[in-house]
Amino acid sequence: GRQQQPDYLSGLNEEQRDAVLSIDGPLLVLAGAGTGKTRVLTTRIAHILTTKRAWPSEILSVTFTNKAAREMKERIAKLVGASVEGMPWLGTFHSIGARILRRHAELVDLRSDFTILDTDDQIRLIKQLLDAENIDEKRWPAKQFAGMMDSWKNRGLLPKDVSPADSGSYANGRGAKLYADYQARLKVLNAADFGDLLLECIRLFREYPDVLADYHKRFKYMLVDEYQDSNVAQYLWLRLLAQGKPASQANICVVGDDDQSIYGWRGAEVDNILRFEKDFPGAKVIKLERNYRSTANILKAASTLIAYNEGRLGKTLQTDMGEKGEPVSVTSVWDSAEEARTVGDDIEGYQRAGETLNSMAILVRASSQMREFEERFITLGLNYRVIGGPRFYERREIRDAIAYLRVVSNPSDGLSLERIVNVPKRGLGDSTVQILHNTSRAANVSLLAATRMLLETEELKPKQRTTLRELVGQFDSWSELAKPRNFVETRFDEDIGEDVYIDKELAPVPHWELAQQILDESGYTAMWQTDKSPESQGRLENLKELVRSMEEFETLGGFLEHISLVMDRDTAEAEDAVSIMTLHSSKGLEFNTVFLPGWEEGLFPSQRTMDESGRAGLEEERRLAYVGITRGRKRVRVSMAQNRSTFGRWQSAIPSRFLDELPPDTVEVTDTGSSYGGYGYGGGAAARFNKADPFESVYETPGWQRARAQQASRKGGGPLTIEGDLVARSVDLGGDSSAFSFGER
Ligand code: ATP
Ligand code: MG
Repeated sequence: GRQQQPDYLSGLNEEQRDAVLSIDGPLLVLAGAGTGKTRVLTTRIAHILTTKRAWPSEILSVTFTNKAAREMKERIAKLVGASVEGMPWLGTFHSIGARILRRHAELVDLRSDFTILDTDDQIRLIKQLLDAENIDEKRWPAKQFAGMMDSWKNRGLLPKDVSPADSGSYANGRGAKLYADYQARLKVLNAADFGDLLLECIRLFREYPDVLADYHKRFKYMLVDEYQDSNVAQYLWLRLLAQGKPASQANICVVGDDDQSIYGWRGAEVDNILRFEKDFPGAKVIKLERNYRSTANILKAASTLIAYNEGRLGKTLQTDMGEKGEPVSVTSVWDSAEEARTVGDDIEGYQRAGETLNSMAILVRASSQMREFEERFITLGLNYRVIGGPRFYERREIRDAIAYLRVVSNPSDGLSLERIVNVPKRGLGDSTVQILHNTSRAANVSLLAATRMLLETEELKPKQRTTLRELVGQFDSWSELAKPRNFVETRFDEDIGEDVYIDKELAPVPHWELAQQILDESGYTAMWQTDKSPESQGRLENLKELVRSMEEFETLGGFLEHISLVMDRDTAEAEDAVSIMTLHSSKGLEFNTVFLPGWEEGLFPSQRTMDESGRAGLEEERRLAYVGITRGRKRVRVSMAQNRSTFGRWQSAIPSRFLDELPPDTVEVTDTGSSYGGYGYGGGAAARFNKADPFESVYETPGWQRARAQQASRKGGGPLTIEGDLVARSVDLGGDSSAFSFGER
């Protein structure tokens, strides 16, 4: 044929093109990191749109993070040329779930403006329930129950599906009842937690087949990225949505990599991938083997490491790069401060050589590792952004401000009201709040409604009644100002052949002005203005930043929805900045240069994971290492500190076993010195030092060439014979630093 190939296909290899063009029927793309799985998904959507098989609103596509969803939209727009008019159903499982629930909220006993609870709110609610049941929170922590409930929700279990035995010994078997109470309480609060965003959808689909049938008609194509990390609830949700057609004809395409399954602890099931072919008989399976991301050295390091895992499907990966590239570097440093200094220096060096900060990332195992880097970068004046981890929106003043806004937007939100009812101090102590709670529980109404009821009684002291009456009055007037005057507009779209909704909500006062007004009138701003602590100025600045950021949203509801859903902090996206994030949130991303600090036993692999899940836990940690290494395109720099303080206690650290699993011929020392009580690297695996006595150190590798040691306690000694021909010389590095240089006699 002479048919001309559309542009978007020309950049793909044969297997990728096959995956894009196999439009009808189930498809599984199973392939290693950097082989273009996400690119295939994006191109597939472009193809569906260009060939007019479906409208943007008829494609359901699931990404793992909000950031990934944004990027995918941009790329599709580029491929299709013209702007893609919205892809309303492109997002994370949670954001799509929330969207569906809001459309049918009344069917699951919510209103469409329901609040999405975060973990803090959730814990507060559980504590209330424990209190009501006279269960001792010290003995049966709320957090533990939250974790238990989370795992039920991840497995798609409603309260009726949970039996008393499922909660084990927790609260002497009352877990199942607490779960039912909790769900009932959420309805009163007009709220859902993260797990509900899917669980309630599943319930909706099961109880209202006509609603489900509508979605069957709507979604002509379904696509899922990072399928290896889907959990049972997500799987059930997808299955239900795919049931519009016989399984063998379902237009569902999932892509994934079993080696990158890193959310087992959150209920993800790699088995979902293996089950796909069974659930969708006749599914086409395509493997991609060419890696377009990383150099040969990086790929070899990653592949060698992951080969230590047993339960694998096994895949081969070949690089598409001509050059082997730089070796993977392993640096041993004295402590985390030196680690941050070294990384900072490296970054500045690359920057001087013309590389952008955007092309560099630091991927940590635990978010507590971030602070040291942040501080160093502030000192150096290096721009950085923290993705995931403790975020802007989790700061105290921001959470307080958001609590005010939530009560204004959803007066039933009692958890938010509780948070700020006495902030700033209004003389409404715990006992008053307790009375409010009791009334709210007894009458089964929201906290605000209970407050109104109490104003008509003598139960509270006159002074507190006056204060509360004033506060309730304020909330009423703010809510009035927040109410949109024009509602949703519908317009028949000829192209799509259906009604499109245009949200045109105009409140009497722009919501960001209202926010400022609320902060001022409530006395919240004044509270920090009169506060003498060193942080208060920063808090006031954060509040300003919050109000400013609200301008980016069309409505207060839209803003609050965003806050509830953001997993990624997306401030300053446009600026050139180094990214700092956890390994978990780095999935799917790529950077020219990747720093992987903290490769020490206990930290990485994490002791907790190994204690809790044994060998399976270790394998999940190893997959995490694989994810980390394969984020790098040109350069991967691993480091370990010989001393690390955890929970304020200094401990000497043992190098991560993962270091030993890297192939020596692709690894190089770029150490600032291993040392006294530490570990040396040279030309691969290298020298092991005896912690108690460096002079007893053993050199294991013949290829050993050089290791430098920062010497803490024996500064300035002469050449020391280590063993045979090996000697160590001390090298003065200026200032307080000195090092050992090892060499042959
Ligand atoms: P991960 O498993 O890490 O999510 P992935 O399989 O989704 O990786 P992509 O992110 O889609 O891989 O692709 C990795 C990189 O390779 C991207 O920069 C992408 O643009 C590029 N790439 C993919 N396919 C090709 C190709 N055929 N030609 C050139 N570059 C490609
Ligand atoms: Mg991907």
